[in-house]
Amino acid sequence: MPELGDPVVRAELGRATWHVLHSITSRFPENPTEEEADALEQFIFLTARLYPCGDCAKHFQRMLEKIPYSTKSRKEASKWICDIHNGANKFLKKEIFDCEKVPERWPCYKCEESNTDDRRFIENL
Ligand code: FAD
Repeated sequence: MPELGDPVVRAELGRATWHVLHSITSRFPENPTEEEADALEQFIFLTARLYPCGDCAKHFQRMLEKIPYSTKSRKEASKWICDIHNGANKFLKKEIFDCEKVPERWPCYKCEESNTDDRRFIENL
């Protein structure tokens, strides 16, 4: 994958991609089927392979090799993406995000297992 020279485009692409990845895992089933767990794993590995910024893609792939993960539940999958994002944050000398705060930052609106705040959001629609 060629390098993406423009730092503004790289940052916009990064923000959009993190939004997609955190949103997918925040809405991932709490008890996924084996097929769903495999699909998520494949999606993440393929995203790293095809990510349209050469250096970022290499970096993403290295993190996937190093960071242990599980796609067996929403909680574990969300932690996986949080850890990967923190790997990028560390590399870019950005603040490390507290992964306990992921459900607050990326809430699972309208999920069956919604917490009270999510239910309140739905009631207000
Ligand atoms: P972002 O890092 O884009 O984060 C968006 C929001 O997510 C934050 O405002 C915060 O609310 C939340 N957040 C932050 N950390 C976490 C976390 N750990 N878990 C959950 N939520 C969190 N840029 C480069 O210049 N070089 C690279 O090598 C590079 N590699 C990248 C690799 C990948 C896989 C991706 C997706 C992006 C990469 N980027 C890279 C882009 C970079 O990570 C940022 O997206 C970009 O710099 C914009 O940063 P930002 O400060 O706006 O917030």
